[in-house]
Amino acid sequence: MPNRAYMHNKKGSPVDANKVGIENRNVKFLCCTEYCNAEMILCKAGTEEAYFRSRKKQDHISAKCIKNSIVFNPDTYDEALFDINFAFESMLGRNHTVQTIDRGDTGSRKGVVGGHRRLRIHTLPILYAMCISKDKRERYNRVLIDDIFADKDNYQKYSNGIEGFKIVETSFYYFTDAEKSITLNYPLNNKGLNSWVKIRFEEEALYKSQKSKLYKSLHIEPIIIAGEWTKAPEGSKHHSECVIHKKTQIYYAELQ
Ligand SMILES: [Zn+2]
Repeated sequence: MPNRAYMHNKKGSPVDANKVGIENRNVKFLCCTEYCNAEMILCKAGTEEAYFRSRKKQDHISAKCIKNSIVFNPDTYDEALFDINFAFESMLGRNHTVQTIDRGDTGSRKGVVGGHRRLRIHTLPILYAMCISKDKRERYNRVLIDDIFADKDNYQKYSNGIEGFKIVETSFYYFTDAEKSITLNYPLNNKGLNSWVKIRFEEEALYKSQKSKLYKSLHIEPIIIAGEWTKAPEGSKHHSECVIHKKTQIYYAELQ
């Protein structure tokens, strides 16, 4: 949920939802992305949990609108518990001990969980939220963000291939039913770059369910893939690919 928006018009700075007085709950609010004039509605006005939601999702103009709406609350998570192998094995369904040990977070999108203990990041929505809250040169429990997250900003680093455990920000391009694969634009706005990655599915049912989800998403909504990536074979249209074993490897970042 976005927690910032412009009030009345796009002049000045955006306001925090929880700082807007209840007397202003019905004034005009606007998306905080530059040049976007989508109207926002203030919900739970006058409380700490106040947030904005879109009046009409279709009015937004770019993936930035969605990224601006994703909030990472660092205090909810214990950075010292973060373990990249544990996180990826858990998302890929490889670690059979995951079910029986203390998993930490519930994976809810807003990271709102009960109790007071601090949690360990191991789900894609939260991992993505953490990555986009930081600069690529920053670290999270000694792991450099540049080394685990590929998007437009560090395209140069990965343009010849993505390898190993990475999360990759993409958008939908096309399906290939014959090999149960989906071709994705990487980076998500790849105009002029002619750059794509491929995800392949082992299971027919999972492939079909993901296909129908893609049909419903808005074009500007990023699709985030967690995988163990390899370079695509020589001569391939794609430069990298990975196998999808579980739906927890795909996150459709949605506008609120
Ligand atoms: Zn917007």
